[in-house]
Amino acid sequence: MTPQPGLCLRDVSFRYGSRQALRAVSVTVEPGQFCALLGPNGAGKSTLFGLMTGLFTTREGSICVAGHDLARNPRAALAQIGVVFQQPTLDLDLTVRRNLLYFAALHGLSGREAERRAAAALERLGMAERAAELVRSLNGGHRRRMEIARALIHRPSVLLLDEPTVGLDAAARMAITDHVHDLAAEGLSILWATHLTDEVRDGDSLAILHQGRILCHGPAAHLRGAEPLRDLFLRLTAPGDSAGQTDGGNT
Ligand code: ADP
Repeated sequence: MTPQPGLCLRDVSFRYGSRQALRAVSVTVEPGQFCALLGPNGAGKSTLFGLMTGLFTTREGSICVAGHDLARNPRAALAQIGVVFQQPTLDLDLTVRRNLLYFAALHGLSGREAERRAAAALERLGMAERAAELVRSLNGGHRRRMEIARALIHRPSVLLLDEPTVGLDAAARMAITDHVHDLAAEGLSILWATHLTDEVRDGDSLAILHQGRILCHGPAAHLRGAEPLRDLFLRLTAPGDSAGQTDGGNT
């Protein structure tokens, strides 16, 4: 039996009324892969996240998570997804620990198991001694790390992050990007939406989304060849070049 991809989107289309936001989007993320979904503002990244997390539904195309079809078996599919949205959603007036426990309870984890997982998550982040502090006292980088830990508390196999470095300084951005690459190396399937080419590494899988279409999808190093990724991205997404393609294939 061939192993299931962590995340498999096939020909997903979506419209807001008469506005077509996504057109036959296909993206695959294997376990252990960090896939950057790179697109300028308005490309359709957040819409895709809304579909993958069940916020919107579509009849056009399919979304499978760890082998579970989201339309046919949403409970099993969503149980395998952890998500970090663009806008922070931590409760600033609860403690670090309480924020994690609250989320664990939402996933039906028992008190003792929730405590155990929250403690392990904080240990891993090097934040064990800050468990009793209010989230309000943490800096932006620590808050984002906490959101990632919270998104993983039910042990999903896929982690979705929608522009997770918005508002962070350069050092914090680098630290979060490193941290999420470490999570991929541990076997998670990562889909990281961004409009910043400097967040994409040569070892990543890359999908460039523009005007609701995937223009290319494959290993980042292969897609860019000898060209800096920034140049490729600007070339493909230049105004009036909505049909841009590379020969990188659509893996
Ligand atoms: P991104 O996250 O890449 O910036 P979005 O998914 O937010 O892109 O938007 C994709 C397209 O869908 C854009 O043209 C945007 O204007 C449009 N759009 C997004 N949300 C809505 C909405 N609620 N109603 C109508 N159009 C929308």
